[in-house]
Amino acid sequence: MEDLRSKLFYEQKNGYDLIGTEERIAVEDYSREYMDYLNRSRTEREAVVNAIAIAESKGFVPYVSGMELKPGLKIYKNNRGKALMLAVIGKKSLAEGSVIAGAHVDAPRLDLKQITMYESDEMCFFKTHYYGGIKKYQWVTIPLELHGVVALKSGEVVDVVIGREPGDPKFVITDLLPHLAADQMKKTMAEGITGEGLNILIGSTPYADEGKDRVKYAVMSILYDMYGITEEDFLSAELTAVPAYDVCEVGLDRSMIGGYAHDDRVCAFAELKAIFDVEEPEKTCVCILADKEEVGSDGVSGMQSAAFDCFMEDLCESQGVSLRRCYENSFCLSADVCNAYDPLYPEVSEKRSDSKINYGMGICKFTGARGKSGTSDASAEVVAYLRRIFAENGVVWQMAELGKVDQGGGGTIAKFMANRNIDTIDAGVPVLSMHAPFEVVAKFDCYMTYKGVLTAYSQK
Ligand code: MN
Ligand code: MN
Repeated sequence: MEDLRSKLFYEQKNGYDLIGTEERIAVEDYSREYMDYLNRSRTEREAVVNAIAIAESKGFVPYVSGMELKPGLKIYKNNRGKALMLAVIGKKSLAEGSVIAGAHVDAPRLDLKQITMYESDEMCFFKTHYYGGIKKYQWVTIPLELHGVVALKSGEVVDVVIGREPGDPKFVITDLLPHLAADQMKKTMAEGITGEGLNILIGSTPYADEGKDRVKYAVMSILYDMYGITEEDFLSAELTAVPAYDVCEVGLDRSMIGGYAHDDRVCAFAELKAIFDVEEPEKTCVCILADKEEVGSDGVSGMQSAAFDCFMEDLCESQGVSLRRCYENSFCLSADVCNAYDPLYPEVSEKRSDSKINYGMGICKFTGARGKSGTSDASAEVVAYLRRIFAENGVVWQMAELGKVDQGGGGTIAKFMANRNIDTIDAGVPVLSMHAPFEVVAKFDCYMTYKGVLTAYSQK
């Protein structure tokens, strides 16, 4: 009777009950490498630079138009320093399709405005415009560091990083003391801290002269000494404030990883590790690190950009294949994080369907909101395909859904890939406190997501 029961019922198991000692060690080794990558990749630009450095050490070369594409050749294309595409050329023609994994490397953050610096009551601030979906109250009274570029009129681009190195100063957005916050505390959490209130404190010492804005003058002269930049140069800058703390293990058992921007660098790293492990695949494997997902995938570096189509068309042309045919036969894992069920907030979840930490890679058949609106909804056949290849290769995975029906919703790059006539499904790591300055993932799920992508890349 027990046999019949286990045959008929679908029951999920905690991932740690499904792996042995060897794989536990692999989980730890993988997690260490990921933590190092995440620690060094605080912006999409840094995520791209670091990915290219590792890729080159693994034999990837920059793609040059007209290059002869022999099976096993490893190439990459840097899209303006903010997005990246890598490929390992397969033995089969691109007419038989490619295997694509697409993650994004942008993350919610506080961008400095173009006219950003001001002095008020002998304190100096940067004004910001937040990027992506944030809960604003989470971004006050935490240490912040500054990253980005300043493009000068001369064409020179100055890299700026302040707050990352030990001993560097950091920045902060202040909040009201509770003693005087009675009115503030009556506001909703959405209104208690406003967008225009997210101003970063950057200095308080006046310059020793008689003029106005002496603190701003002092701060500006420090920046001029460090980087040779003036206030006008902020007009053509992309500077962003991100949380200024290191990635770390979480829990007495060290089973989780806490840090900023797991969404979606945790999947980006899984894809990178997987494509680095691929040698002479049957079908051409493609790894995408996209930008602008958190703001709708628009723009030249977002997944709606023709940059991806140009890259793929170049590859197809060199084999005399039409891009249409390649897309039609391709398969894409939209590698993005999913919401992990949180016992502290059970009211927003439908426990049977939300993903759980330590239960493996989360597969979202559909995303969207209000009756699946805006989803590409992968077909049953695509899900069945994953069931088969994951079962054959020991990938621990689970179904995932974004909370209760009508509770909210969201989307990924999946629909932009599916709109290209590519069979696409969402797959990624469950995250606790998603979009917070300190998100949490389980090491087990990070590793299984890598294994899932590698399995997809390895199919005939
Ligand atoms: Mn994401
Ligand atoms: Mn996100």
